[in-house]
Amino acid sequence: MGSNYSKMTSRQYYRSASFDYEVRGLLNYSLSCCVNAVLQSFSATTELLDILNKWHPSDGTDERNVPWQLRNALEFMRDKSHPAPHEDFLKCLYHQAIRPFTQHDADEIFHLILNLSQEQMSDAAVAQEIRSLYEIKVETQVVCSKCKFIHRAPSSLFSLPLAICEGENTLEGCINSFLQLQKLRDSEKFNCERCDEKQPSTHEVKLVSLPPILCVHLKRFRNNGFTRKLFNKVTFPETFSNDIFAAGQSENADGLKADECYSLYAVVVHIGPAMFGHYTAFIRPNQDRWYYADDSCVQPSTWAKVQGTYGGAYRDTAYLLLYRKKSLNSSG
Ligand SMILES: [Zn+2]
Repeated sequence: MGSNYSKMTSRQYYRSASFDYEVRGLLNYSLSCCVNAVLQSFSATTELLDILNKWHPSDGTDERNVPWQLRNALEFMRDKSHPAPHEDFLKCLYHQAIRPFTQHDADEIFHLILNLSQEQMSDAAVAQEIRSLYEIKVETQVVCSKCKFIHRAPSSLFSLPLAICEGENTLEGCINSFLQLQKLRDSEKFNCERCDEKQPSTHEVKLVSLPPILCVHLKRFRNNGFTRKLFNKVTFPETFSNDIFAAGQSENADGLKADECYSLYAVVVHIGPAMFGHYTAFIRPNQDRWYYADDSCVQPSTWAKVQGTYGGAYRDTAYLLLYRKKSLNSSG
């Protein structure tokens, strides 16, 4: 991570050819590469700034207010003349839960920023809109093998947590595993309320509704006393349709319609080993071409280079994938 300052002479902005959108490089302050990469993904999620701009706080603002500083950072990232678009946002986060000079987990930072943006938002309707933009609604169903009673537990997620296994993985395979029926036997027996005793059961996660922005978390870090990173290959498509969820949707699920797909527009990348890694991001604002943001250095990129983060032979590994729901009839 120490090489970032040597890259400061690189181009810090890149003007997208067909849209008025500046991909803005972000200086690495106190090892902020993780926040920088997540912030690039939020910046490419133009819907988020549109929602934040509906908020008009009446009682002034606090420099420690996360949604306020997030909105400022996203606005300033579009302002070529602004010298330090995310410096105040980082200071604000340092007042909260995160520490400078510490390696963070991008999925945790992603959740932290989204959760604080809702908790500290004074307008309930705007907070709900932020939630709805990312919220994946699921239902966990546990079926007692003896009395067949179905225990249902609804919950919601901001990212789909996908386990990856040794060997080669595909996104579709990881999603299938997440939604697969599991048998709970022996020590895993479930305490059935109706039988009033532990019974063998089946456990299944059903998708209830899918959001406009779907974040996929490839769980590359495994902790058995110490944190280990899985470099295994995980291939993922640039677009996919509802077929990928196979049978894992509940009846009447609010999923993708026949004429809709999910289109990849941001990838948060983790480079190197678990404890000494570095984060970067690929982003494709407005469905235009790909860009690669490595802290302050931004350069045009390609889908082929994004595919270089599948893992396996590569050190650079995709960690968070952000897909936008879109109509198959629209361009891009
Ligand atoms: Zn039972």
